[in-house]
Amino acid sequence: MDFALSDEQQMIRDMCRKFSDQVIAPRAAQMEETGEYPYDIIDQMAALGMMGIPFPEKYGGSGGDWVGLHLCIEEISRGDITLGALLDVTTSIVAQEIYVFGTEKQKKRWLIPLAQGKAIGAFGLTEPDAGSDAASIRTTARLIGNEWILNGSKQFITNIGYDNASLIVVAAISGKLTGGKSIINTFIVPKGTPGLIIGKQYDKMAWRSSPTHEVVFEDCRIPKENLLGEEGRGLAQHLSVLQTGRISIGAISVGLMQACLEASLSYAKERVQFGKPISKFQAVSFKLADMAMNIELGRLMYLKAAWLKDNNLPHTAEAAYAKLFASEMAEKVASDAVQIHGGYGYMDKYAVSRYYKAAKLLQIVEGTSEVQRIIITRLLGC
Ligand SMILES: Cc1cc2nc3c(=O)[nH]c(=O)nc-3n(C[C@H](O)[C@H](O)[C@H](O)COP(=O)(O)OP(=O)(O)OC[C@H]3O[C@@H](n4cnc5c(N)ncnc54)[C@H](O)[C@@H]3O)c2cc1C
Repeated sequence: MDFALSDEQQMIRDMCRKFSDQVIAPRAAQMEETGEYPYDIIDQMAALGMMGIPFPEKYGGSGGDWVGLHLCIEEISRGDITLGALLDVTTSIVAQEIYVFGTEKQKKRWLIPLAQGKAIGAFGLTEPDAGSDAASIRTTARLIGNEWILNGSKQFITNIGYDNASLIVVAAISGKLTGGKSIINTFIVPKGTPGLIIGKQYDKMAWRSSPTHEVVFEDCRIPKENLLGEEGRGLAQHLSVLQTGRISIGAISVGLMQACLEASLSYAKERVQFGKPISKFQAVSFKLADMAMNIELGRLMYLKAAWLKDNNLPHTAEAAYAKLFASEMAEKVASDAVQIHGGYGYMDKYAVSRYYKAAKLLQIVEGTSEVQRIIITRLLGC
């Protein structure tokens, strides 16, 4: 077995680490407090090619791989988790869906700007009555003449609120099979299309600089050619790219845990109680040891899943393990980080209070922890 990263992967990791430390981390607290969208940072990430790492150069990418992208996502998330999520949704999910299932014309028009980071993508699956049970969506798409007409609504949609969001790839029902099963298709709906209404922005307990909106379709007409992929395969397509999203949530979780460890280690070495730094008390240092171990495990898990993907090998279980383990550990690690900081850790001024609030969402998005366990138990044959 060879655990060594290639020169290119190391270069990506080192570049993203430096960028995260110098550009993102100093702004993260302010972004969370004000809810500002850091367009200048996003532009710099685009200029460094982060959004296009796994795509060929002819589609605006840099011809790298999924391991490289996920190293980037970990490092960016260490600075600010919402920018890791931007990469997850735009690159791992939306751009990939167009890359894998799109026509040449769709790739040229929509993938290139996404991979270049000139545009941001949104993913529309969840609805008010269809979350974990994604097959029960109600949004409809009827083909009339040369146009699809969409009606319905999606909720909790990340990224669509950015000014430079260009599109949402959305799942909708286009009919029923004889047995009553829905025919689900996915569509590219450009932002700005009449009838695509960006609804209310949600107030969230954290992740405030990541836009989350309701999206409504009211007789929203798009050209027939905006069908993405094969008719009737829309849900399968959406779920297949969500599998990569799970690897990305694993990497985001590891980035958050690494930030927790770094903050906690330096605090524990400085904070003196009973005449010594608290890092000298085993009750504290053992927490730090567990953090380091869980980071290593989470990192190995997301890297293995990404490596399997790069090698076109099955990775459904590994993506679920990476997401489930790393997101659940992120909550524990963030809680321990606050504990090590004592009362100070509960204050907004200390980054660990932000990490603690941010960690919870990782167990919910892109398939809850329970959904990951369902995936794993199915693979076990339960
Ligand atoms: C900030 C944020 C951003 C998001 N961004 C996007 C986005 O960009 N695009 C998008 O499409 N969606 C997005 N989502 C939606 C997210 O993916 C869903 O919230 C998630 O899939 C869970 O669905 P739900 O909220 O409807 O919960 P539900 O499915 O109602 O689940 C509620 C609880 O029941 C449990 N549960 C449900 N079914 C089962 C079962 N069979 N067995 C055991 N337990 C079960 C769940 O695990 C959970 O604990 C976002 C959500 C948030 C909060």
